[in-house]
Amino acid sequence: MNYSVFVKIVVLLCCGATALVQAAEPLSRDEIETAINAAYAAYKDLQEGANADYIPALAKVNPALYGIALVTPDGAVYSAGDVKSEVSIQSISKVFTMALVMDEKGPASISGNMGVDATGQVFNSIVAVEQHQGAEMNPLVNAGAITATSMVSGGTREEIWSKILNYYNAFAGRALRVNEEVFASEAATNQRNQAIAKLMYAYGHIKGNPDQATDIYTEQCSVSVNARDLAIMAATLANGGRNPVTGVQAMKNENVPEVLAVMATAGLYDDSGKWLYLTGLPAKSGVGGGIIAVSPGRFGIAVISPPLDAAGNSVRAQKAIAAISNALNGNPYEVEPAM
Ligand code: GLN
Repeated sequence: MNYSVFVKIVVLLCCGATALVQAAEPLSRDEIETAINAAYAAYKDLQEGANADYIPALAKVNPALYGIALVTPDGAVYSAGDVKSEVSIQSISKVFTMALVMDEKGPASISGNMGVDATGQVFNSIVAVEQHQGAEMNPLVNAGAITATSMVSGGTREEIWSKILNYYNAFAGRALRVNEEVFASEAATNQRNQAIAKLMYAYGHIKGNPDQATDIYTEQCSVSVNARDLAIMAATLANGGRNPVTGVQAMKNENVPEVLAVMATAGLYDDSGKWLYLTGLPAKSGVGGGIIAVSPGRFGIAVISPPLDAAGNSVRAQKAIAAISNALNGNPYEVEPAM
């Protein structure tokens, strides 16, 4: 063996050893089940928060509904509680429409239009729109999300809608349906979102018909999901955009980091900073009571529990996800020193 071959082998061995030290230990079935069951039991009887009621149909959802699901990149699904009952996806849909627009038009179409910064304001803030005339926002608050929906290409409303729903279906691994009662209830009471869309149109961010964009956005928020669906959707993001249960590449692998970055910045509305500080996890909540969170390369997790805190985030879901992730070392910023 000549000297340069010897050096190459030594370098390869050293790199391999470092990679071994840095790669997180795979999670065992036992560890995951213990963490999920403990969190389920710990928060089952918690009586905090209240269902959203500004959309009348959401006030009627059973507040005791509580389900946890976690999916690993090998496609294993773990769960506790009620993972069959469905709620409306609400703002969690914003993640997937943002991903669709990035896949169609590139991430710069989002950052260059409504922006990718936290607003520090509530999710349906009009002050935030006014502050920078609809720029310096993000696609996970209503103004940016309705704008993202308006950017999905298609000749007719039907074509745009079926593209959005099929895109969500690839993440969930099954054909999702719209909860027509929730859709009708929100469509009858969403004057504020209609106003936000008109402002985004006035400032040039929405190019097409703002009323159609609001209508499709309202329909996407009414898609019905259970905790298992949401966990598979989260795990698809944790697995580079490939659904670990079906094996389908649901979105372009190269756009996953940008999607996760916006979730980390703005996924829990004006409480996103507190959440990231607590868990390190990109996440997204919806006023239907669901939260998804992503530990890249490790797991996707979802919890559904309708009672919300003042920022509009499910109380039990935040507590359960934080407890489970911390028990499983899910925080991607947690790294052992190499030496
Ligand atoms: N459809 C709801 C709205 O536009 C979604 C809000 C949410 O989940 N935060 O108000």
